[in-house]
Amino acid sequence: MRLSEIGEFGFIDRISGRVGNPEEVVVGIGDDAAVTVLSPGMVLLSTSDMLVEGVHFDLAWSDPYSLGRKSLSVNLSDIAAMGGIPKFALLSVAIPPELPLDFLERFIEGFIAQAVSYGVTLTGGDTSSSRGGFVISVTLQGEQYPEKVVRRSGACAGDIICVSGTLGDSALGLQMLIKGERSGAAIMRHLDPQPRNVLGRTLADAAIPSSMIDVSDGLLADLGHILAKSGTGARVAIDSLPLSSCFKRAVESSSPEFRRYTLSGGEDYELLFTVSPERLDDARSAAEASGTAVTAIGGITSGNGIILVDSAGGHYTPESSGYDHFAHV
Ligand code: ADP
Ligand code: MG
Repeated sequence: MRLSEIGEFGFIDRISGRVGNPEEVVVGIGDDAAVTVLSPGMVLLSTSDMLVEGVHFDLAWSDPYSLGRKSLSVNLSDIAAMGGIPKFALLSVAIPPELPLDFLERFIEGFIAQAVSYGVTLTGGDTSSSRGGFVISVTLQGEQYPEKVVRRSGACAGDIICVSGTLGDSALGLQMLIKGERSGAAIMRHLDPQPRNVLGRTLADAAIPSSMIDVSDGLLADLGHILAKSGTGARVAIDSLPLSSCFKRAVESSSPEFRRYTLSGGEDYELLFTVSPERLDDARSAAEASGTAVTAIGGITSGNGIILVDSAGGHYTPESSGYDHFAHV
């Protein structure tokens, strides 16, 4: 079956039939705009991310359920990086006429399942046909007390740089998909990343990080954003970067991919944050409480730029810093 058989409004009805109706949603899907309530004293956080077929995903290997989850996850990760609490999502889709209705149903199921796990309600969106590929745009709103919001700009010389989870898996997973493989832990991390919202919020609630960002474009690029906003430099011990067991098995430490995936690979959706040395133990406790490992990988300096040092004390120069949509245009 195709979307044309149930029409735009039939499709919207199928979406709204799956959405819960919590108290803070005064008006949800079905009117001209959603009306929602924030918790007293909190401010609104808003973020938006677009996923374009052929640019961000390839239908040759994206299963619709994971794609639905990931469309929300990339936004959840941005709210996590601000230390916010995710609340309301808007989902806009441009759908090529040949996309099967089954695919769309699975996509919506995945999106809603991820929304439910993270306490998010879908409150609206927009639906259009597409003459090109499938295009997804998600806007996510969250909340937090203004003084608890964590920005990119607060890193100070002497702070310790920490990263959650492991790095490089998503880049490895993408490479495996391109080569024709279809299963494995790294591939799952690429197709269905797990945003670190519990950790982000736990850190922010206790005012632990001086700055924070999520690793979407690669460690060097995203650390670069913290440094640019904070007016500082950094020193990173590249042999201390956290790696998964599947990564260590699949990628030779002497290969060029090893450094490329861990330093510049995108889409890991881990949290990268800085913390003063006195609060490092608190950061470790927050990590333990939220069930996510955190690793210290370096320190903030008063210089500028990133100095990479290996365990032998040598300096390392990377081939590129991270993903930039327009760098090769
Ligand atoms: P309008 O013409 O006023 O923009 P629409 O017909 O586009 O209204 O949408 C009707 C309702 O359905 C609105 O509440 C809108 O937010 C919701 N909606 C439309 N598309 C989607 C979607 N893809 N996901 C969730 N809600 C949607
Ligand atoms: Mg509309």
